[in-house]
Amino acid sequence: MAQQEDVFKKIVSHCKEYGFVFPSSDIYDGLGAVYDYGQNGVELKNNIKQYWWQSMVLLHENIVGIDAAIFMHPTTWKASGHVDAFNDPLIDNRDSKKRYRADVLIEDQLAKYEDKIQKEIEKAQKRFGDAFDEAQFRATNARVLENQEKFDALHKRYQEVMNAEGGIDLEGMKQIILDEGIVCPISGTRNWTDVRQFNLMFKTEMGSTADGASTIYLRPETAQGIFVNYLNVQKTGRMKLPFGIAQIGKAFRNEIVARQFIFRMREFEQMEMQFFIKPGTELDWFAKWKETRMKWHQNLGFGAENYRFHDHDKLAHYANAATDIEFHMPFGFKEVEGIHSRTNFDLSQHAKYSGKKIEYFDPETNESYTPYVIETSIGVDRMFLSIMCHSYEEQQLPDGQTRTVLHLPAALAPVKLAVFPLTKKDGMPEKAQEIINDLRFHFNCKYEEKDQIGKRYRRMDTIGCPYCVTVDQQTLEDNTVTLRDRDTMEQRRVAIGDLRGIIEDKVSITSLLKKLL
Ligand code: ATP
Repeated sequence: MAQQEDVFKKIVSHCKEYGFVFPSSDIYDGLGAVYDYGQNGVELKNNIKQYWWQSMVLLHENIVGIDAAIFMHPTTWKASGHVDAFNDPLIDNRDSKKRYRADVLIEDQLAKYEDKIQKEIEKAQKRFGDAFDEAQFRATNARVLENQEKFDALHKRYQEVMNAEGGIDLEGMKQIILDEGIVCPISGTRNWTDVRQFNLMFKTEMGSTADGASTIYLRPETAQGIFVNYLNVQKTGRMKLPFGIAQIGKAFRNEIVARQFIFRMREFEQMEMQFFIKPGTELDWFAKWKETRMKWHQNLGFGAENYRFHDHDKLAHYANAATDIEFHMPFGFKEVEGIHSRTNFDLSQHAKYSGKKIEYFDPETNESYTPYVIETSIGVDRMFLSIMCHSYEEQQLPDGQTRTVLHLPAALAPVKLAVFPLTKKDGMPEKAQEIINDLRFHFNCKYEEKDQIGKRYRRMDTIGCPYCVTVDQQTLEDNTVTLRDRDTMEQRRVAIGDLRGIIEDKVSITSLLKKLL
């Protein structure tokens, strides 16, 4: 674990050192859980967004996009339930003065029991080899059974307090924390305050006070911008059910515990798609979207073993099915995306609060109804973090040296091709510029002439540039260059005229999209 934390720290400093992510307002020592994307980060982020957008809007004839405003009429948040119920249960440790989410403390405790069971299984697997029967081992091993019992008991209590009548049972939550002997990781004590509710929405004022300013909120999710535009899009686009509306945009949450870099931010970006369907078909569509979204993730080639579904124990009052797609980060499996079957809750609430009829007339059955919704909701920043974590490597080379390399999927890499003149003489810089001038319309290229070639390669490895080209004496004679591959470090001689053909397909988002079909 300590080693994993070390790796994570290195990734965070790598992000800063190489222009991916900076603390916000860095010269003023930063702002808690707010970050800026630098010259390389913004390119990677834009590529992630394009991959998502195109997979939704280009690959589905029945999905269209919108871009709604961040500010919305305040009643939106009354209707959606965010004013009354978008709360996290928080608890403070009196000794360390640190604040935690009470639900997260309990979930971490559950994960500890699961970890213990997993460790026993792994040990036994090693001991018994092929003859190992996991089901039998789980049913008979005393240590596994003991931990499973503890897990089940805690799980049951946790579900009860989270789903208590009238909202979360805060006293019950504190009692669980005390009974389980959960300690503050900083002070190591059990000196906890009571659990309190905390609303996560940021408030501000619109208009001057003299005008009778009204309190408005920074949107905590992009989804409501889609719901309030359902009728506009359905009517103007003459959309037939089932159809989807996709949106990418900023969201804001005043998170209580904002740690782990860009995993939990106070200002972040979401990519959400609401898929409107006929009531009664939601579980089929839920299954379909689970599969589609998992495929989108796994298509990046990070290995299926690094993803899992985590079905929700605690369903929001409006949802009838919900799951998370979790990715194996250096700090464990963590949610990157949520897929929710939200019934007709949001549209019905907006109909009720606005007094407008929000329904769909089904020409096939001649009836009107409020559509149901399947939502897929993914955080751009968490996706960015998962890609960084998986791509970062400190590689031991055969000659004893190490190199730091980002094995980014080529289609997402900020820079696709770096072009180097071997020396700054004999027309080599001009030739290198000529190559760039030709290729820059097709993908992102970078010119570098400083330092030895080896150093330039290493610099490009640190930002995950998949290809480097060197212009040398021979280039001037026969128009060939050396093309170096980031991952294999192999170099081969190719004709300048062939460069585009070799590189373009591999670095385009289209190449990723084609694999999805
Ligand atoms: P968590 O349980 O981690 O707080 P959530 O279940 O509240 O997340 P959703 O409301 O389902 O998250 O939001 C959908 C997606 O938005 C998440 O899967 C995540 O990728 C992203 N997201 C949510 N909150 C944040 C945040 N504070 N910082 C960065 N990304 C976030």
